Amino acid sequence: MTDIIRLLPDAVANQIAAGEVVQRPASAVKELLENTIDAGATDIKLIIKESGKMLIQVTDNGCGMSERDARMCFERHATSKIKQADDLLAIRTLGFRGEALASIASIAQVELKTKRHEDEIGTAILIEGTVFKGQSPVSCGNGTTVSVKNLFFNVPARRNFLKSNTLELKYIIEEFFRIALVNPDIAFTFYNQDKVLFQLPPGNLKQRIVNLYGSSYAQKLIPVEQQTALVNISGFIGKPEFAKKSRGEQYFFTNGRFIKSPYLHHAVDGAFKELIPDDSVPSYFIFMEVDPQTIDVNIHPTKTEINFQDMKSIYAILHAAVKQSIGKFSLSPTLDFDTEQSMTFPPIPENHPIRQPVISVNPDYNPFEKKTEPQTRFSFPQKPTPSIQGWRDLYETQPPLAELIDFPVSGEGSFDGSTGGSGTESFTQRNHGVQVQNAFIVTHTDSAILVIDQQHAHERILYERFLDEKMAEVNPGQRQLIPQTITLNPDDAQFLLEWKPYFQKLGFDINDFGKGSFVIHAIPMNLETTDIRMFIESVLESLKSPGQDHNINQRKVLAKTMAIKLAIKRGKKLHQDEMDGLIESLLACQVSVVSPDGKPTMVIMPFEELNTKFKI
Ligand code: ADP
Ligand code: MG
Repeated sequence: MTDIIRLLPDAVANQIAAGEVVQRPASAVKELLENTIDAGATDIKLIIKESGKMLIQVTDNGCGMSERDARMCFERHATSKIKQADDLLAIRTLGFRGEALASIASIAQVELKTKRHEDEIGTAILIEGTVFKGQSPVSCGNGTTVSVKNLFFNVPARRNFLKSNTLELKYIIEEFFRIALVNPDIAFTFYNQDKVLFQLPPGNLKQRIVNLYGSSYAQKLIPVEQQTALVNISGFIGKPEFAKKSRGEQYFFTNGRFIKSPYLHHAVDGAFKELIPDDSVPSYFIFMEVDPQTIDVNIHPTKTEINFQDMKSIYAILHAAVKQSIGKFSLSPTLDFDTEQSMTFPPIPENHPIRQPVISVNPDYNPFEKKTEPQTRFSFPQKPTPSIQGWRDLYETQPPLAELIDFPVSGEGSFDGSTGGSGTESFTQRNHGVQVQNAFIVTHTDSAILVIDQQHAHERILYERFLDEKMAEVNPGQRQLIPQTITLNPDDAQFLLEWKPYFQKLGFDINDFGKGSFVIHAIPMNLETTDIRMFIESVLESLKSPGQDHNINQRKVLAKTMAIKLAIKRGKKLHQDEMDGLIESLLACQVSVVSPDGKPTMVIMPFEELNTKFKI
């Protein structure tokens, strides 16, 4: 028998590694930007075309590379950052695996130009799918430019797997934010399709946050500061009153590296308890400096998760620091800041037995899980509520619903099917709704009792109105007497531009004025809001939240988001005419039994069924 095991060729090994290191254009952007930071750059330029699918180019003024290093850097496990195993225990650089450039070069066409400050002339290298294509001396500035063209050109499966340009660009912006936030002293310029997307001058953290998110952030932030022997915490949290409905501005950085930590998130979130609504989340930009020996960054190839040796103490310190900041800067303006003692955590002597702080943490806690509302509050017997699929079946097998409760779906004729004449009239005259628990409206037709959930029902009504083509044509929107100008942060502005056509279809008339400014000339007829900017921002937030399937039909997604935002909520007391109008409009809907989210709008109890139940 011959031996069958052999070493993989380099190109294959690199491509396999690339699968882990470079999942999408944003991962390449991250690796290239990290290399510029490690190279000591103070001025960094990022250029993107086609959301990085066509070009990612990063230029820095860092240390540059020698001719030999310029060739070596594309070798697998080639790194200048660690020399021996011990170095792994004290990593201060962002990279150390020596895998990024080798991986990127295995799945793209890469051009490198680099020159050290002490050299007269630089080196240019061309490499394509790991194949070395050429090298030449080049005259260039100090530092390095890496151009990555046609990412995944030789791995079509990966290329096809990429998301829309909008989404891929969003991922890139997110990586850019992470690096720009933790390096406020470095200048960054970010070009997308030849246009400047971000121009960030060097400054302090607060200035950087304001440059990234817009000037309104200057008033929204309060500082967090805590020095202890274990960890030094610094940064900012958003004031509780600015908490948002979707995750977004939540950043932890450890030793200059962005990290994800649901556990530490819980520490911060907990400090905001009772101060912000249950469905809102706080913003934070928190920096933790620890001894590199006390963390292990080696557990994940893309390194966003790290292990702290003393996670529980860090949790406790962070929680206390955030709580203290909120108390000091936000809620208690009468406190005398000067005399207030800050918490002190004395250094822990070596070999001293450490008592773990007792913190009650639910290990199953999932910060991304939504709390569910209690569904039924009725205690009288009713038909078991069908599952959502059940409702869909009910609707899709029309006309059972209409027959079941005896009203014409078209809205013509009477709702109770018995009197003839105007349905609306007969309905409002004879079957007024009664509100129960400020949440449900109980009414009846000639054949059934209806219990309507006012919130789901109103969502359905608004949703169909927003989608009504005829209405959009006849009444393109409500012109504003004085058009309003709103200014959005760059990320939101980019998003609104992508979604503008769909906003227009719903009756908005929005003009892009550049630099994040928009003029609103018209708003949809049914939109009763005084703060258009806040409304648009909150709609954009919902559109950005994960789980939205934009591919299905963007117009529907937007109509749904707006309907859910604008619908009356459970808990609101309704007047008689509001209730009756709601019942009437709901029954005139094309799909009256489910909300746009697929939740039931009403429970129907046919009299026949009651008769059986009461053994009549
Ligand atoms: P790592 O960053 O893990 O060391 P990379 O593959 O990202 O691995 O880079 C390999 C090496 O190439 C680095 O260790 C560094 O010496 C060199 N290098 C990469 N990018 C730059 C740059 N922008 N400026 C200077 N040197 C660089
Ligand atoms: Mg690197």
